[in-house]
Amino acid sequence: MEIVHLGSGSGGNSTLIRTEETSILIDCGFSMRQLERRMSLVNMTPEKLDAILVTHHHGDHGRSAKAAAKRWGVEIHANMETCERLSLDPVNECRIFENLERRDVGPDLSFLPIPVPHDDADNVAYVLSSPEGRAGFVTDLGEPTEELVKHLTGCSHLSVEANYDTKRLFGNPRYPQPLKDRIHGRGGHLSNKQTAAMLNRLVHDKLDSIVLCHLSSDNNAPHLAESEVLCEIGEKFEGVIHISRQEGPEFAQWLGERAAEPLRWS
Ligand SMILES: [Zn+2]
Ligand SMILES: [Zn+2]
Repeated sequence: MEIVHLGSGSGGNSTLIRTEETSILIDCGFSMRQLERRMSLVNMTPEKLDAILVTHHHGDHGRSAKAAAKRWGVEIHANMETCERLSLDPVNECRIFENLERRDVGPDLSFLPIPVPHDDADNVAYVLSSPEGRAGFVTDLGEPTEELVKHLTGCSHLSVEANYDTKRLFGNPRYPQPLKDRIHGRGGHLSNKQTAAMLNRLVHDKLDSIVLCHLSSDNNAPHLAESEVLCEIGEKFEGVIHISRQEGPEFAQWLGERAAEPLRWS
C-alpha cells in the first residue's frame, strides 16, 4: 500500500492510496484542477480512481466531491449526513455507509469508518486494510475516543492530525476567545499534546510510520508538532515521522517500510 499525502491543512486535504489493484483518495478538499495537478505529479489520473472516501462535509475535506462524482464519474463513499451536506445524490453519486461498516473498494483494499467528535459534522476516521496490513487516517476531532484508539491499535501506519500548539493558540491575538475555545473543545481539533498522548498508546513494534497532518499555519509549526510527539514516544518508537504540509505531495510512504521516498519536485 502506497500512501501519498497530496496536501494537508485548513486550505485543503487529500491523500492518495494505491495498492496493486486499487486506487482511492481519502478526501478531496482541493479544487478539481489542484487535485488533477497534484495527482499528475505522482503519475495518477482521475480515470484510474476506484473511489473517493470523504471524512466529512467541511470544504477542506469535501470541496470537490460533487464535481468529482459528476465529471470524473468516480464513486464517493460517505455517511448520510456528509452525503446530504455535500448535496450528493445518495443513489447515483454516493454510496452511503454506516459507522463501523467494513467495505471493500477493490479486490485488495477495504475500509472501516470510525465516528469521531467534530463540531457541526458527522466526521469519521478511516482504517484501511490490504493484504500487507492496516493504516489509520485521522483528522478533525476534538479528542480521541476509546473506540477510535481500539480500532487504530495494530496499524502499521498512522496519519494523524496535530492541529495546534496550545500556547500558540491561546496566545494568538488574532483569534477571538470563542474561536480558541471551539478549536480546543471536544468538537474541535487535536493539539500536539493530545496527538502525542494518543500516539503513545498506539506505538508497537510494527508501527513503521507516522505522518502528522492538518497543522494550523497560524497556531502550529512542524518542529513544535514533531518535538512534542517525539518527546512522548521517542524512546519506544523506532519508525519514522513525517509532516504533511499544505503544499504536497512531498513524499510517498509504503506500508511496512520505514523509509519514505522524497518526491523530486518538492
Ligand atoms: Zn472539519
Ligand atoms: Zn479540516
